[in-house]
Amino acid sequence: MKSLWSDRDAQSLDGLAALVYASRLIGASPELVLWGGGNSSVKVTGKDHTGKPTRMLYIKGSGSDMKTITAQQFTPLRLDDLQPLMQRSAMTDEEMVAYQAKSTLEPSAPKPSIETLLHAFIPATHIYHTHADAICTLTDVPRGREIIRDVFGDEVAIVPYSRPGFLLSKRTGDAVRANPLARAVILDKHGLITWGETAQAAYLDTVRYVTMAERYIHARLRAKPRAPKTAARRTAPARRELAAAIAPVLRGAISRHKPMLLRYDDRPEVLAFARTVDPKSLRGPFTPDHLLYTKPWPLLLDPRAARDEASLRDTLSKALERYRQDYLDYFNTYKTPGVTMGDPNPRIVLIPEVGMFTTGKTRRETVIARDLYLHTMGVMQAASALGGYQPLPARDLCDFEYWPMENYKLTLAPPERPLSRAIALITGAAGGIGRAIAERLLADGAVVVLTDVDLEATQKLAEEYSRRFGADHAIAIEMDVTDERSVRRAFREALLAFGGLDIFASNAGIARCAPIDRLTLADWRASLDVNATGHLLASQEAIRIMRAQQLGGSIVVISTKNVFAPGQDFGAYSASKAAQHQLSRIMAIETARDGIRVNMVNPDGVFLNSGLWSPEIRAERAKAHGIPITEVEEFYAKRNLLQTKILPSDVAEAVLFFASNRSSKTTGAVLPVDGGVKEAFPR
Ligand code: ZN
Repeated sequence: MKSLWSDRDAQSLDGLAALVYASRLIGASPELVLWGGGNSSVKVTGKDHTGKPTRMLYIKGSGSDMKTITAQQFTPLRLDDLQPLMQRSAMTDEEMVAYQAKSTLEPSAPKPSIETLLHAFIPATHIYHTHADAICTLTDVPRGREIIRDVFGDEVAIVPYSRPGFLLSKRTGDAVRANPLARAVILDKHGLITWGETAQAAYLDTVRYVTMAERYIHARLRAKPRAPKTAARRTAPARRELAAAIAPVLRGAISRHKPMLLRYDDRPEVLAFARTVDPKSLRGPFTPDHLLYTKPWPLLLDPRAARDEASLRDTLSKALERYRQDYLDYFNTYKTPGVTMGDPNPRIVLIPEVGMFTTGKTRRETVIARDLYLHTMGVMQAASALGGYQPLPARDLCDFEYWPMENYKLTLAPPERPLSRAIALITGAAGGIGRAIAERLLADGAVVVLTDVDLEATQKLAEEYSRRFGADHAIAIEMDVTDERSVRRAFREALLAFGGLDIFASNAGIARCAPIDRLTLADWRASLDVNATGHLLASQEAIRIMRAQQLGGSIVVISTKNVFAPGQDFGAYSASKAAQHQLSRIMAIETARDGIRVNMVNPDGVFLNSGLWSPEIRAERAKAHGIPITEVEEFYAKRNLLQTKILPSDVAEAVLFFASNRSSKTTGAVLPVDGGVKEAFPR
């Protein structure tokens, strides 16, 4: 591996600042730590709140990510309180955590890492602990100890596996004292610890030992006879087509208790791994803290025999049934008494010739699971050149998976929002109403697929929303609702991104304005194409996905007040929207048995950011009503009972109501958002 150390960047840094700098370098190397893994510390002499000189240990707070860590994410503890604990023979996790809390010098600092004492018991100033792929490859093979001796000699002490906590800390402290030549410790089936008097020395030792392990592995991998390369049997489009067919069925099957999000990956490493992996080797992560996101083992699914959706569903449900039973057996065999079992569904699903799905309750969890498993694949393949992959035994995996101290990290995530775990797709998302719907659903926790003919505008929105609401919570996909292939492709991409669909907002629409005797055939056809046929095509895809999931769903249709109260010169618009409206009622009738609800929102005169209200339409309407063009908005506002302007956000509130469970007993209904137009009262 490459050292990222820069003398220029680091020259003026010492103590905590140097620790932050080196920790970020470690976090920037995914072969060392991933997503909150690993930790680091420095011992300094400072002053406590009374001004008394105090020896302090700054240790990474539990759950924070080294890649982006800041000084505030390190917790200062009174070192003179911690070091005497070396003399004790035992301490429960609860005693240790309570003791650490009392020794914390900053009450607002995060909870210190569960490996705090390990850092306190090693006498060096800077200490870095990583879960390096290459180091874990050496520990997770049958002859691990011998290999580590061969590679590192006396420079590295090995500490046998135990769950992090007092015992592991004490054993590590003892190992350092018993091996005066040791410059690093390898924790069996867990990771590496290096240290030094400066941040640079400790960091460079991490790089050095990991590089030594990498060289050893690469030499063995080169010597290993290569498996004959078998070409992928499917082209990329065919593979993705099949993945998109599997996704909603899989999502439905693992979401019976609570909905999950999926994420698809078919990079070449994944395909090669899924094609060649020995199912017996799929037994556990290479370091236990991956368990939180990956579960002990993946589901290996072979749908090649499935000919149609029914047999795919059958294959999948049998495979999942087996997985859940195996998980239940594992839990019952190794559980700590009094612990309740968590979700027994897989987080990683490997499908030969298709790729990998990762699952999680948030987008972030699906990404973390993917990243962790990509590294697991690398370690497993490397281990195969060193005598085979041998992770922790199931007993230790279960012990770690249900360890309250590790699960504490999950409680640091923000609380779930009303639409958490929900996937929404919006057509015409670049327009004023489309945007408002997206923002409202995102604010309530949904992930959102923004579709529009204007890809560039939609991509900009997706970037903005991802900054505001969470990375990748909104994605942009080009969709022309009038083109069947474009619609199919867009829904397929959405499936590969999130795995399914819960909310479909049919919002794309156009308005053409002309009296009937002067209406051009082109405008008539365009209106029907977008407003009626476009709604049909997109709704068909949405219904197919929702049916495949068997989780119900909500379709919200942006209709118009014109359906009930048409106005002159709007023949093409009103007739095409009436077709959309009537079609939606039929959809409500046909899909109710699948738990799918279809409801309509009827806005009127929404001007803000509206693509519908083009300058031409404004001019036309001004002429029709005999008013100056600047007064069109005012005119429409005065026309309704409440004498109010209708904003896109008002429409979005109605969409949210129909999208959420708050309207779970309502389908085929119409909610006007028009300030009250008595001619358009639903009846
Ligand atoms: Zn660790």
